[in-house]
Amino acid sequence: MLKLNNTAYASALKNPVQYSKFGISQAIQRRLNHTLNFDMKLPNGHNYDQPTGLFINNEFVKPLSKSKPSIPVYNPYNESLICDIYEGGADDVEQAIDAAEKAFKTWKLTTPEERSKLLYKLADLIEQNVDLLASIETLDNGKALSSAKGDVGLMANYFRYGASMCDKLHGKIFQNNAKDGFGYTVREPVGVCGLISSFNFPLMFVSWKLVPALVTGNTCVFKPSEHSCLSTLYFANLIKEAGFPPGVVNFITGLGPVGATLTSSPKIKKISFTGSVGTAKKIMSSVGIKKVTLELGGKSPSIVTNKAKEDLDKVIDNICLGIFFNSGEVCCAGSRVYVQEDIYDELVEKLVKKAESLKVGDGFSDPYFGPLTNKMQLDKVKNYVDIATKEGAKLLTGGKQIGDKGYLFQPTIFGDCTNDMRVVKEEIFGPVLSLIKYKDVKDAVAMANDTEYGLAAGVFTSDLNEAIQISNELNAGTVWVNTYNNFHPSLPFGGHSSSGYGSEMSEEAFHCYTNVKAVKMNIKSVI
Ligand code: NAD
Repeated sequence: MLKLNNTAYASALKNPVQYSKFGISQAIQRRLNHTLNFDMKLPNGHNYDQPTGLFINNEFVKPLSKSKPSIPVYNPYNESLICDIYEGGADDVEQAIDAAEKAFKTWKLTTPEERSKLLYKLADLIEQNVDLLASIETLDNGKALSSAKGDVGLMANYFRYGASMCDKLHGKIFQNNAKDGFGYTVREPVGVCGLISSFNFPLMFVSWKLVPALVTGNTCVFKPSEHSCLSTLYFANLIKEAGFPPGVVNFITGLGPVGATLTSSPKIKKISFTGSVGTAKKIMSSVGIKKVTLELGGKSPSIVTNKAKEDLDKVIDNICLGIFFNSGEVCCAGSRVYVQEDIYDELVEKLVKKAESLKVGDGFSDPYFGPLTNKMQLDKVKNYVDIATKEGAKLLTGGKQIGDKGYLFQPTIFGDCTNDMRVVKEEIFGPVLSLIKYKDVKDAVAMANDTEYGLAAGVFTSDLNEAIQISNELNAGTVWVNTYNNFHPSLPFGGHSSSGYGSEMSEEAFHCYTNVKAVKMNIKSVI
């Protein structure tokens, strides 16, 4: 088949059109025309082969069915067409699950040393490819290249942490009564894991799910988000290069139904899902009886007390990091900030100045943050700005799209907010911050906890007692004190309440991917 380079391909398709505007025959034609690879040239000079197929048994393949249209991938900075990826069908998901089931029979028997060696090798390969992996992610997702490089660095760290943990998974021993023998527990892999991810940190979430699955001896079928999967497909090459046996890790691209096929399959023994509460509810109605981890949305509060006054500049840096990092497309974004009354005016003045100084632009141009990832996100953010204004929140800065092509949006801050406003209660997933003034710390804690979510929270104070007491009171899976968005592989990350359950990272995550077995040994009395 003729292999077109991406420029020729894009012009052959007469440039960007929305997927929904395609006639089905045109869509099928697009699919038949495209190959398993695109020659790509990135704005920062990288040339590489972009895989577009499904990754099953360590090979990129086309879907079995010829009737499904392909999915066009657009650059969120300028809406130009990048390439098309394949959409897997139920039959492809089945094939991937079968490959993973077959691989499980031998992968579960590998020694910790064998798994560790492969994971170390993979971490090395990720590091050798940081620049390219990050650049692909910036092109596809829109995020600032510096953030993308940070994500890939964290990804490599986590694979390395996983490699170091393969021989540190322990059961427990129970002595009971010596006459009666003893008991012990072992942790066993569950089988084939179905891993489903959102669009905001594509590669990092690959590591958050693959590491605990592989360390503990499971195999997997991973479905990346349809809105951002090019870097994941490129990463699949590294799985093969590192030497993982065929079928241990499989990637199936596609829309929601690919995920639904995974979640409802009885051959899948564990689901780990990162995404919205709405999708999680659908999953829970069809998942049947299997282990589930849910990493969902949030509306994470930060509490700044009067005692943070002496370090206000650092507090402001952290507030900006909390809400503007990654365009605010962060599950734990610090999107509502409670500020004690004595420092409110000073904080607002400095924060607005800082927000207005942040560079927003093409991810390749070294901005603080790049465009939102897709048009749906842009429309959602615009809508919340309207809602907030109508509700009486005071627009302190921002509130507008930047330019008319692509999905750039200004850093936006609303003041004079109250806890009953939708802009304070609902997840926006964009660079929109709400500020709420308070008098008494107890009231701030009560307002912070008055939410359906419980993912993360921030506390800013120079008083250690205050920091500990507020942290104890907050309903959140993670509390950051005088810092924000600060992750480490050895610390668990996960939500309470509607933000989900189960953990990513740390030993806690390993427990989510294993079954515990208790063995009771009887002994015969001989003395
Ligand atoms: P989403 O729920 O729309 O999609 C997530 C994934 O689920 C995608 O891969 C999608 O194709 C798939 N999917 C869609 N329908 C499905 C179905 N019926 N069955 C199975 N899979 C299905 O979420 P999104 O818009 O990609 O991500 C944004 C959301 O994710 C936000 O709410 C954000 O807070 C949350 N998130 C949470 C965390 C966390 O760790 N807690 C991290 C990142 C994002």
